[in-house]
Amino acid sequence: MCLFCKIVAGEIPSNKVYEDDKILAFRDIAPQAPTHILVIPKTHIPSLDGVNEENAEIVAHIFKTIPKIAAEEGLTNGYRLVSNCGPDACQTVPHLHFHILGGAKLAGQMG
Ligand code: AMP
Repeated sequence: MCLFCKIVAGEIPSNKVYEDDKILAFRDIAPQAPTHILVIPKTHIPSLDGVNEENAEIVAHIFKTIPKIAAEEGLTNGYRLVSNCGPDACQTVPHLHFHILGGAKLAGQMG
């Protein structure tokens, strides 16, 4: 079982900020911004490369939920969304996740 599947299963504790039957959001253990939240599907999808016709609905659900989480966190002045996919992007946990970063003016511009 991967690290984030263990978090979903409750085998590893997390600081949850949102949960429903399909997805989980929790605070990153090594925050890169004042607010740094990871949003993951509860089912194991290794990365963005694993998104397909069968599971795309859960990604749509994640994207619909992210603005609600950001609003709950008070990120009224904006935030950055990042998903590292594969070795060149330095993905370290092989379970699809989206980083919500905010709470301050972020350095640089990605993309
Ligand atoms: P990535 O490098 O895009 O794969 O992101 C993985 C993220 O997971 C990193 O920002 C880590 O700090 C974070 N992380 C690793 N272990 C945990 C954990 N147990 N709880 C919360 N976040 C974690």
